[in-house]
Amino acid sequence: MKVSRRTLLKITGFSVAAVAIAPKMALAARNSLRSLRTGVQPGNKTRLVIETSMRPSYMLSYPENRLIISLANTAANQSLSPSLASGTLISSVSQTQVGDRLQIAANLRKPVGQIPKNQIMVLEPNGDYGYRLVLDFAAGTAPARTATAAASTGTKTAPAHKYVIVIDAGHGGKDPGCIGKGGTREKDIVLAVAKKLRTKLDAAGFKTYMTRSDDRYLKLAQRAEIGEQRKADLFLSLHANANPSRAMKGFSIYTLSEKASDEEAKKLAESENAADRIGVSDFSDFEKDIRVALSALQQHALAEMSEEYANGCSRAFRSGGIEAQPGPGVRHAPFAVLRCAVPSALIELGHLSNAAEERLLKSDNHQNKLVNAIVKSVKNYNFDV
Ligand SMILES: [Zn+2]
Repeated sequence: MKVSRRTLLKITGFSVAAVAIAPKMALAARNSLRSLRTGVQPGNKTRLVIETSMRPSYMLSYPENRLIISLANTAANQSLSPSLASGTLISSVSQTQVGDRLQIAANLRKPVGQIPKNQIMVLEPNGDYGYRLVLDFAAGTAPARTATAAASTGTKTAPAHKYVIVIDAGHGGKDPGCIGKGGTREKDIVLAVAKKLRTKLDAAGFKTYMTRSDDRYLKLAQRAEIGEQRKADLFLSLHANANPSRAMKGFSIYTLSEKASDEEAKKLAESENAADRIGVSDFSDFEKDIRVALSALQQHALAEMSEEYANGCSRAFRSGGIEAQPGPGVRHAPFAVLRCAVPSALIELGHLSNAAEERLLKSDNHQNKLVNAIVKSVKNYNFDV
């Protein structure tokens, strides 16, 4: 459903507009399969590596005792012999061309559940290697949330389950966040927007949770913790901005990184982290260190998933007619609240320090516009990649 557009984007690396203008160019690029191999990972996990010449765009399905990886716009390579290690869950691998898609079927010795996103990675080309889609999995039944799917015929692709979105309204309680000239408090604006967002995301078929649904103070690490406890597919932290220049306005979107992408992003992370007195200069200040829990590859995968969401969110805001802060569409900084093991983004909805934008942020109409843009970005987000 939503996959095809993202598929095109992945194949071409162009923006939506470029794809619309040049569909032939998009189709001209054709991916090819370079190698298939399996191995055993610590924890008795099976690793399947699919190497391709271009960035793969894939979908996974789990028919009975098989794992099927469907690669968009990719040609089969029947001369290729898979390198299968012993002691894995995969007994054999076959290729089938279905239109322009290549279906790689891995026959399994034991059933596996849906592979968690943080066990799926796309590695960039490195040395002699091209792009590699890496899947790590263990034997087991499907996780609880896809239990109904597994209990059905077992021969069909699992029907979509509800994706979990955790909405974090920034600040609260003793921490008002920034305050506009007209006295508008960030904590009130973001809570109002968060509640509207919850209602609309629920209506759109997502399962939502809020870190706070009233005026209370939560530590940043607690918020991140809620994202993990709820097994969020996406964690969205909502904020509003203040700038010493009252002329500055527009939304901006951030993802987590150890280093800030620019001076402004660094200052913003400093002010957003100030609630918990967490410095941004030293990552080790963070109460919670996801580097311990996640492998470098998993962190890389998370960063990629977050970045994809953030880019889509930025596009949705722009196409929704919401003014963007000048500068890059997505920035990066060490926000404590984003330090969770789920894809996450921090959205600065606008500037309370700008009189016109302060008025907008208070208005029901503009809040709905913001919410609609976020809902669109969530609907467009490809959760399965
Ligand atoms: Zn804030």
